[in-house]
Amino acid sequence: MEWLSETSRLPQNTIQALCLDNVGQRISARLTMAKRRRWVVPCNVKGPSDGRSTCCPLCLAEDATPYFRLAWRFAFMTHCPRHGCVLTEACSTCGSPVWPASQHILLSRQPVELSRCQCCGGILGGNKSIDREMQGIADALWLCATTDAVPSSMPQVANAQELFDALWTTAQLLLRSGAQRIWKFLPECLAASAPTVTGAHYVELLPAQQRAKIIRGAYWLLASWPNNFYEAARAAQISRLHFSSNWAIQPTWLSSFISEKLSAKRLRISESQVVTVIKHFEENGLAVTKSSLRRALNVSEAKAIHKLVKHRHRATQEEFTTLCTAIERRIEVTPRSRDQRATLCRDYLIFLLSVLSDTCVETICKMSHEEVEALIQRLRDRSVASSTPPEFFIVLAYARTLAHQEEPLIRSRSANARRRFTGRFGDELSGCTVRDRFAKLIPQELDRNLWNSVDAFLGIYPSSEK
Ligand SMILES: [Zn+2]
Ligand SMILES: [Zn+2]
Repeated sequence: MEWLSETSRLPQNTIQALCLDNVGQRISARLTMAKRRRWVVPCNVKGPSDGRSTCCPLCLAEDATPYFRLAWRFAFMTHCPRHGCVLTEACSTCGSPVWPASQHILLSRQPVELSRCQCCGGILGGNKSIDREMQGIADALWLCATTDAVPSSMPQVANAQELFDALWTTAQLLLRSGAQRIWKFLPECLAASAPTVTGAHYVELLPAQQRAKIIRGAYWLLASWPNNFYEAARAAQISRLHFSSNWAIQPTWLSSFISEKLSAKRLRISESQVVTVIKHFEENGLAVTKSSLRRALNVSEAKAIHKLVKHRHRATQEEFTTLCTAIERRIEVTPRSRDQRATLCRDYLIFLLSVLSDTCVETICKMSHEEVEALIQRLRDRSVASSTPPEFFIVLAYARTLAHQEEPLIRSRSANARRRFTGRFGDELSGCTVRDRFAKLIPQELDRNLWNSVDAFLGIYPSSEK
């Protein structure tokens, strides 16, 4: 710094004022992300579709001595506050990055004026069409970043730090693939320009044109607080889960609003909505659990889910006996052709072993011949104990018969086979296909109120009697 001050004959505090950190600390002091500062566009980007530092060719053309502005290093500056054109990232002649520091060639040749491409020497040009709205936003944001003056449309904001933290949180929301539906609820001109998500995880990594769309949307969401934000988030069923990765940096007015107004209870998921999703799950053989419903409905907690799922998740021993009787009857009438009967027998045996030993279906599917034999032996020893209900004996006897008589087609015969159970074509049997078939079978044989997954029967014969 001393050297720089002496060489340039400028006082040190004048140089300091020109440093990235002078502005950077005001807008993102609270949390610097791993190895990089929030909002600063990285210089060393790789792909051609990545964002990179920018310049305004019109500003450079007007300069007596062209120089690169500090403002151009920040991701929220997508347009020139003076000219209103989108900032340029690459030379229109040769395509090299305009930011001189990212041009390795600088070291090997005489520098040219900064208004020219350091690589090919062509005059830097770019898209000169003017966007008054983005110009206004860039102007307001830069004023805030440098002087702490907050935009008049955002009276809830106390200082630059709060504005940029809230803007970043909102920009990240607009980037999230799980929240893309919110674009439909922004004003028409914004919704129409919803960016094509490039897989970039941070707004800094997007090219300027894409970034501009995000910043414009985020800026709108924070204006007229909290109306714009609330209306759009509620319509798109955005919940606090969507913000979970950014809790640490949200200003209090934002985080408390999200916690209070966007919790699932406020979203009022109705029972009929939950029933619709349950039906859809059942038709597709998917397990109905609270967490799968919450995911599907995009809520963190809902009374309706709790109410509907609570009484469905545990079967009784009677229900187990009823289901067994039904499946055994089914086995008798199923034709032997096309392996149907063999498949049903195999699934049933897996199911019985799973329930009797209180072990999940997936584990049973992976068992070897010896493990299955040992398991049956263990269950037999246990059933001798007096506390075992008679149904246990009956079911176990059936399982043993099945295990010994099961159709050869679905039983791996080869002595080397690791697994006892195989698929129809000798392939490895996966637990989820067995699960799926039972999910379709259970509601046909039992009360529809019962949660239709094989897991509903686990725990009715606890594996260890204490
Ligand atoms: Zn300009
Ligand atoms: Zn060039």
